[in-house]
Amino acid sequence: MIQLNNIKKVFQTEEVETWALRNISLQVKEGEFVAIMGPSGCGKSTLLNIIGLLNNPTSGSYLLDGKDVSTLKESERTLIRRGMIGFVFQSFNLIDELNVVENIELPLLYMGVSGKERRKRAEDVMERVAISHRAKHFPSQLSGGQQQRTAIARAILPHPKLILADEPTGNLDSKNGKEVMELLSELHKEGTTIVMVTHSLHDANYADRIINMFDGEIVNQVEM
Ligand code: ADP
Ligand code: MG
Repeated sequence: MIQLNNIKKVFQTEEVETWALRNISLQVKEGEFVAIMGPSGCGKSTLLNIIGLLNNPTSGSYLLDGKDVSTLKESERTLIRRGMIGFVFQSFNLIDELNVVENIELPLLYMGVSGKERRKRAEDVMERVAISHRAKHFPSQLSGGQQQRTAIARAILPHPKLILADEPTGNLDSKNGKEVMELLSELHKEGTTIVMVTHSLHDANYADRIINMFDGEIVNQVEM
């Protein structure tokens, strides 16, 4: 499903050039759950953002479902992203001014789905992540675990075949972290492909494969 060949990413700021990714080649099969680990600053988020079409690589090729997506324009990347990729971030990235159900419905609003249909699908997915009892609460009124479950509900609502999670339990205590990991694990069992960045070996144990990065490169991979 994901095929990266010799991916490099250089960030150019005024005086400095940062080689975030030096030479990444990686394949992820459909239905696989892969964990990416490595020290802070080694390029994990940069890699995830390229896989998620938030960013283009500086060089190298990226085939997603067999289609070359390495040099697409932002508008083309957005279309593919909305159709097939769900994101989950460490900081939840919910909109503070919207309540739980409104946050969850937002992607459908962008897709032009009618109000009644949006509400029905949001209700189904809220049940799925056990957040229905907080539907009218605002993010500031929720625990970290509830915020992340809301963010996951928003991510899975359009039925993405690929979920990208960047340290999804990074801001959670172990109990809430476990709930989030169980949820991701269920999605994986239903066939969703997952690529997750984590600092936690415990979380990485849910994956089929662990990829260890260092200084912009993959140093080894471990099948679980
Ligand atoms: P990780 O997620 O593993 O902590 P990142 O992918 O965020 O690492 O960052 C890799 C390197 O690229 C770091 O040196 C970081 O400072 C740099 N970097 C990341 N994003 C940018 C950016 N937008 N502009 C400049 N440098 C960046
Ligand atoms: Mg990061």
